[in-house]
Amino acid sequence: MDYKPINQIQPKNSVRGKMFDNPVLDKLTTTHAAIPITMLVLFGFGFLYWGAQHTFVTLETYAMLVPVGILSWTLFEYLMHKHLYHMLPTNKVKGWIQYNMHGLHHEYPKDKSRLAMPPIMIILIAFLFLGVFRLLMGDYAFAFTPGFLFGYAGYLFVHYIVHAYRPPKNIFKTLWVHHAIHHYKDPDVAFGVSSPLWDYVFGTLPKKKKG
Ligand SMILES: [Zn+2]
Ligand SMILES: [Zn+2]
Repeated sequence: MDYKPINQIQPKNSVRGKMFDNPVLDKLTTTHAAIPITMLVLFGFGFLYWGAQHTFVTLETYAMLVPVGILSWTLFEYLMHKHLYHMLPTNKVKGWIQYNMHGLHHEYPKDKSRLAMPPIMIILIAFLFLGVFRLLMGDYAFAFTPGFLFGYAGYLFVHYIVHAYRPPKNIFKTLWVHHAIHHYKDPDVAFGVSSPLWDYVFGTLPKKKKG
């Protein structure tokens, strides 16, 4: 197939997108978002617990590094969404990655089974993050990675709320509108899902209507 830049993909009203023609294989690429969210929280607490038992990282360090981990996630989320998920399909490989990781979601935004990576990927990703952060910061990774995973879970939660419900009348409303603009008005702005912070920092907030 020919891959399009994401800002040229028209959102379809149909509920189900498809990654593979084989129905069994395709089913494996879907999940209810509650499963990955629960898994990420459990992995976060698991890593915290393991670190508390086996490392000399202090409680104060935990109290500081968990929030730093969450904040770092929001930046990671922004950069991934903007530069990897929305990369231009200049060759077949890039096109395949962009479409299957994200283009499909822009084409079928109402497909609730594709709002998160499937469970097997979540296990790999959780340990991959732990491994990478362990290399970068040693035992402090047992405080930082849980924060990062909690941020990831928070992102999936907000993303689910945005796509599964009508605009809520609470703090999620701002985030709901922000992400709806990204999907239905201008896919080249509003890349932050769990917060508009980095859109503000990097100048990709939605343009305000004049007048
Ligand atoms: Zn979305
Ligand atoms: Zn997007």
